[in-house]
Formats: sequence, structure tokens, C-alpha cells
Amino acid sequence: MTTRRTFLQGAAGALGLSGALAGSAAQAMPTDRPKKFDEEYDVVVVGAGGAGLAAAAHAAEKGLRVLILEKMAFPGGSSAICGGGSLVVGTELQKRAGEKDSNELLFKDIIQTGGGLNNKDVVRTFVDNHLAVYNWFMGLGGKLQSDLLFSSVSANRGVEIEPNSVLQACLAQAKKFGAALYTKTAAKRLAFDGKTKRIVGVFAEKEGKTVSFGAKKGVILASGGFARNKALLAKYVPRMTNTLTICGKGCDGDGLKMALAYGADVADMPYIKATFAFNTDPHSINDSHYTYWEGGIVVNRAGKRFVNESIPKKDVGDYVLEQPGGIGYCVYDEPTRRISLKTARNNGSVLESEERGLVFKGNTVEEAAAKAGLDPKAVKETVERYNRDIREKGYDTVFGRKFLSGNMGELREIKEGPFYVLPSTAVLLATYCGVKINGKMQVVDVFGDVIPGLWASGEVAGGFHGRTYLSATAFISAVVFGWAAADNVLKA
Ligand SMILES: Cc1cc2nc3c(=O)[nH]c(=O)nc-3n(C[C@H](O)[C@H](O)[C@H](O)COP(=O)(O)OP(=O)(O)OC[C@H]3O[C@@H](n4cnc5c(N)ncnc54)[C@H](O)[C@@H]3O)c2cc1C
Repeated sequence: MTTRRTFLQGAAGALGLSGALAGSAAQAMPTDRPKKFDEEYDVVVVGAGGAGLAAAAHAAEKGLRVLILEKMAFPGGSSAICGGGSLVVGTELQKRAGEKDSNELLFKDIIQTGGGLNNKDVVRTFVDNHLAVYNWFMGLGGKLQSDLLFSSVSANRGVEIEPNSVLQACLAQAKKFGAALYTKTAAKRLAFDGKTKRIVGVFAEKEGKTVSFGAKKGVILASGGFARNKALLAKYVPRMTNTLTICGKGCDGDGLKMALAYGADVADMPYIKATFAFNTDPHSINDSHYTYWEGGIVVNRAGKRFVNESIPKKDVGDYVLEQPGGIGYCVYDEPTRRISLKTARNNGSVLESEERGLVFKGNTVEEAAAKAGLDPKAVKETVERYNRDIREKGYDTVFGRKFLSGNMGELREIKEGPFYVLPSTAVLLATYCGVKINGKMQVVDVFGDVIPGLWASGEVAGGFHGRTYLSATAFISAVVFGWAAADNVLKA
């Protein structure tokens, strides 16, 4: 498949495991506010991804003077290279499909997936505002990649947004209302006013110099996650330190560190998870697939299943990373392949993996398994056991799988050749945790008090996802929370 996206940022998103901490120059940065800032704004937004650009657009259109700081040469961040899969209740697509759904059902699904550990106020802010914000950015020029809906837990509510259309639309709106964007300008420290006890600005590094930017109403941190920062991964989730990573090049955790310096609390840190399933040579989101949710199963090197494949893909990822080599082999038949070739969420990646010689095909399960280097007899037995369960009991009695994914999709036997084996792994795309916020996106300190003047949105913030991220809620929540942070700055 050819790529379906035009990246805003040419340089973003290369696969890598880099992650140096902020440069030494930052250590000399002041933290107290200067007598006079070099430049003054109402709001300074740190980071120009989905959260930052939505925040900037909304603050600017409501009349605030806005500055966006972006440390890379281009805006976009992880948002620019993401799949754009987004859960939205009440879209035209859903209405046309006659899909039964509700905000309350979405709320329940997010909380249930998050193991009840989510900050319910934050989830409420998302649920209550997501459709309005979706309509807002679609009205500004956001586009969908297809008119297909995909399933999520209790309903078909997933739409495939073109992330770059949203980023471009928000950036255009911000600029139309006078917002300034400084690229190659990295925020390093927050500026604190000892008299008013507020965050009142940002110190940044621009062309090798320290520049101070005042933010009369507040600073919105929207600097993304820290999937590239091995030191932070080692500190919070050591088992993820060496996981393959695909994310924006700026995902170093700068915003998290800046907020920690002022006593910010954190949320959801232990629950960083990698996403299954990517082929074993992944370069972008186009190298991921969902054959195990379209009718397949996943086995390990011993040819045995090890998980109920219908659970969230991040949870499947946890199990896969515990298998030898961190590999899960997706086993599926021709009907599942055909479905996988046309569903929205597969991004054409199955075809691409086939073209790259990554899929092993056989007229029998044994033949496909042998080509993949697995024990043919063991894989055959596993498939036969799974098929027998479906035939005789209607569900899988070994791991309790009752649906294809979430609560959706009837299980099918794997029985119509040719058969396929696609070796796959889990990849860290995002950190889904970070600075603790309240339902107004205000940063909360370790004593539970709001840090005045400081807001955080998107992947820099924690609390929304809880124990497990509900797939297709990261990009849309970054945008919704960016908008919400600006809205609350306006009201403050
Ligand atoms: C390959 C991939 C696929 C994904 N697919 C999906 C999907 O289909 N659906 C979904 O919901 N989610 C998906 N995600 C996750 C989702 O894209 C992100 O969680 C979300 O877009 C994060 O948005 P953000 O604005 O918070 O951060 P980002 O988009 O990463 O933006 C943060 C910005 O801040 C900048 N920055 C960082 N530090 C500083 C600093 N010190 N000073 C100035 N600027 C700074 C960064 O350079 C970056 O531009 C995917 C992620 C990846 C990587």
C-alpha cells in the first residue's frame, strides 16, 4: 500500500530508541520570572501537536494573544504521524449506519478499559466535549480518511481522521486570529512569580539564546509524551526501556520535567503499554494490523495461544512482550485476510506486509506454520482446539474469548485456506500518562492543589486512560483537551 498521509513534518516519526535528556544549556536556565519578559502574551502553548494547535486555535479565536513554541523545525509531533483512528459518538457516519451508541456508553467503556483507575472528571470532560470539538475542527477543515466505521468495545464508533488535516486547520485558525508560532524554539523552564505564586511564563532556547516569554493568563503544556526518553522510561516503567518505539522526534518528556520542577503530581505512570500488532520490521503506523481482531488468533514460538485476543491491543501487547523474542505469531485464514484487506483500521498493512515477504502462506495451517519456523503440529493442534471450541461451545474455553474484539464480532473457525502466519510485535507509540490534571486541565501538585497558571493537555498529561488506554482515544483526546485547556484559561 502506498502511504495515505502527507506529513506536516518531514523529519518526524523515524523509528528509533533515542532519548537524551535535555541539553546542558537548560541547567543554566532561570526559574524566577524576569523583571521584564522579552515578549509578552496572554497564553504560551508549549508544543505544536494536536493538543497545542487546538489550544492555540481556540484561545486565539476567542481573542487571546497566543504564542506557540515548538522545539522541532516543523509542527506536528506524534499527532502528524498517527493513524488518526478516533472514537466519536454521534458522527454523521454513525447516524447513517443507524448505530446505537451514547456518551454514557463511551464513558463506561473508557472507565472499564482503564480498570476504573481513570480520573473520572477528566474522562467526563472528554465525553461531554468530544463531539462539539470534533464538529469544530471538521468545520475548520478537518477531513476523514474513509467513510468506514470501526468497532470499539460496545459500538461501531471509530472514525479514521486525517490527522494532518486537523493540525493544518487548527494552525490556520490560530494564525488567522494572530497567534505566533516559533519553531526550533524549545521551552526549558517555567517562569514563576514569587509574589502572585503563579506560573507566569516560559524560558526557552531560541537560536542558542535564552528567551523569556510572559504568559499573563497562563501556560498550556502540550509537549507530548516521553517514549524517546530512556531515562524517564527506566525510572517509571523499566520493562519498557528497550521496547521498539515509533513516535514524534520531540517526545522527550520536557513538559513533564518542567511541571515536576514545580511539584506537579503524576498519573497513570506504571501503565505505559506497547501496541500490538506491528510486523517485526516496523517503520510507521502502516506496519500495524488487526488480523487477530478480524478472525485470527495469536500463538507464541511454541505454537500455543497465550491470551484472549479480544482484549485491548495494549493489554495483548503486555502478553506478547513476555513471550520468547517478544513475538506473537498471528494465524488466520483466507476469509480473515480478505476482511483485513478492506477494513479501515488495517491501513492496507496486511497487503504491504505480504509484498515485503513478511507473511508466511500455506495451503494448510501446518505448511504456513512450518514456513514461519513454528512447529506445524503444535500450531495445527492449537487451531483445531480453537475451532472445536467455537463449533461446540460457541466460545474459546481456554482463554475465555467470546468476541473478536471488545464485545463485538462473532468468533469464526480458522478453516478456509490458504492459511497465513504473520510474525508480529508490540511497539511503544505513546506514553499515555504524565502530569496530573483536573477536569479543567489544570495541573495539580503532589498535595492535590492546583498549580496556578499552569494547564496541561494531550500526551504530557495523565489520568484520562487509567490502567489501559482505550484504542483510538489518544489523538482525539489530545485535541479535545487542548481545546478544553484554552476554554478554561478563557474562563479563569
Ligand atoms: C505511529 C503512531 C500512531 C498512532 N496512532 C494513533 C491512532 O490511530 N489513534 C489515536 O488515538 N492515537 C494514536 N497515536 C497516539 C497519538 O498520536 C498521540 O498520543 C497524540 O497525537 C499526542 O498529541 P500531543 O499533541 O499531546 O503530542 P504531540 O503530537 O507529540 O505534540 C507534542 C509537540 O510538542 C513538541 N515539544 C516537545 N517538547 C517541547 C519543548 N520543550 N518545547 C517546545 N515544543 C516541544 C514536540 O516536538 C511536538 O511537536 C499514535 C501515535 C503514534 C506515534
